[in-house]
Amino acid sequence: MKTSKISKFYEKPLEERLAIVKEFASLTEEETEQLGKYGALGFETANRMIENVYSTFPLPLGLATNFTVNGREVLVPFAVEEPSVVAAASNAAKMSSGFEAKASEPVMIGQIQLVGAKDAKKAIKAVMKNEKLLLGKANEGDSTLVKFGGGARKIEAREIRTKRGAMVILHLLVDVRDAMGANAVNTMCERISPMIEEMTGCETRLKIISNLAVHRTVKAKTIWKKEVLGEQAIEHILDAYEFAANDEYRACTHNKGIMNGIDAAVIATGNDFRAVEAGAHAYAAMEGKYRPLTKYRKNRNGDLEGEIELPMALGLVGGATKTHPIAKINVKLLGVKTAGELAEIIASVGLAQNFAALRALANEGIQKGHMRLHAKNMAITAGAKGERIDEIAGQMAEEKNISVTRAKEIMEGKK
Ligand code: NAD
Repeated sequence: MKTSKISKFYEKPLEERLAIVKEFASLTEEETEQLGKYGALGFETANRMIENVYSTFPLPLGLATNFTVNGREVLVPFAVEEPSVVAAASNAAKMSSGFEAKASEPVMIGQIQLVGAKDAKKAIKAVMKNEKLLLGKANEGDSTLVKFGGGARKIEAREIRTKRGAMVILHLLVDVRDAMGANAVNTMCERISPMIEEMTGCETRLKIISNLAVHRTVKAKTIWKKEVLGEQAIEHILDAYEFAANDEYRACTHNKGIMNGIDAAVIATGNDFRAVEAGAHAYAAMEGKYRPLTKYRKNRNGDLEGEIELPMALGLVGGATKTHPIAKINVKLLGVKTAGELAEIIASVGLAQNFAALRALANEGIQKGHMRLHAKNMAITAGAKGERIDEIAGQMAEEKNISVTRAKEIMEGKK
C-alpha cells in the first residue's frame, strides 16, 4: 500500500530514505543511483539545511560577464535553468556604459499584530511612550548584531480596521547590517511582545518580518549609447516600456524578465529568492497599480537611460549564505564585503536583464535566439554528441524545422 504518511523520515539513514522514495515512485536502480549522487553540497550539509533530505537538486551555474558596477569589474554567478538568461544579461552589460548603483541602509520591518484593543489610540500611545525601553529590550537579545552596528531603531504604529475589529499594527524597524534579517527581526518581535501586552492590555498575535522591505531598497542605473544601440532600437524599447507602464499583463512579464537575472544571482549566493520575489512584486504594486520595476527615458544626447528600484533583502551571514559551499565561493567571486554591495550588483543585473528582453522583444523578437538553443537541446535529445550537436542544430535552424525527429533523421543521414 502506497502511503505518504512516513513518520520520522529525517531520522532514517540516507539509504533507507532512498529505498522509500524508490519504492514509492517505482524508480529504477539507475534513477535511485542518480538521487544518491551528491555534488559539492554533500548529504551532510544538505541534511542540516532542510528537513527530510533525500537528494540535492543541481542547477547549471553560469557566469554573467561584462558587468561594471560602481566602477568595479564584476563577474556574476547565475544559478538558473532557463536558456538565454546568462547570455542576454552579459550582452546587455557589454552594451551598457557601466552601472551605478546605491543601496539604502539595511533596515527591515518586523510586524507585530495587536488584537483586542478597547481603545486603539490609547494602545498606540502606550507603546510610543515606551519606545526607547522596547528598542533596548529588542537589542539586548542580539548583541552580535548591535556589535556590528545594527539593531532596532524605531517603532511605528497604526490602526487598521478589519471585519474582525480594529487592530493595532506595530512596525519594529531594525538595521540588520549584513543579514537578510528574518530570524533576527522575528526574534526581536517575539522578545518585546510580552512587554507590549503588559503596556497595552492587548494580545499580540503575529510577530513576523515583512518582505515588503520599503526601507531597504536599491537603485541602479545605466546608459545605453545611441551609437551602440541604434536610434530606432531606442524608440522601439521606449514603446515597449510604455506598454508595460500602462498594462498590468505586460508589466507582470516585464518584471518576470527582471527577476530572471535577479533570482539567478540571489540563488547562486544562497539567498532567499522567495523573499526578494515577494518584496519586488509587492513594491511594484505599491501605488495601487502593478507597475514595472524599471524606468526608461531618452536623455539629451538621444541615449537610452535605464533605472531600476526595488527592495533587496540579501544577506552575507545567516541563512544558507554561509552553509552552502558553492554560495560561499560565489560571494568570493563577486568580491563583496557587505550585503548592500551585493544588492547593488544584483539590481544592476535586473536592469541589464530587462533591457536585454526589451531590446530583443521590440526588435527581432526573442524566439530567434531561443530557437538556436532549442535546436541544440533537440539535437542532444536525439543523441548527438560533440561537434555534431552544433552541426545538426545549425542545419535544423536553417531548414526552420526544429524537432527531435528531424535531428534523428539528420543523424541517420537523411537529407
Ligand atoms: P540568521 O539569524 O541566521 O543570522 C543573522 C544573525 O547573524 C544576526 O542576528 C546577528 O546576530 C549575526 N551576525 C553576525 N555578523 C553579522 C553582520 N555582519 N551583520 C548582521 N548580522 C550579523 O539569519 P537572518 O538573516 O536573520 O535570517 C535569514 C533566514 O531567515 C533565511 O534563511 C530566510 O530564508 C529565513 N526566513 C525568512 C522569512 C521571510 O522572508 N518571511 C521568514 C522566516 C525565516
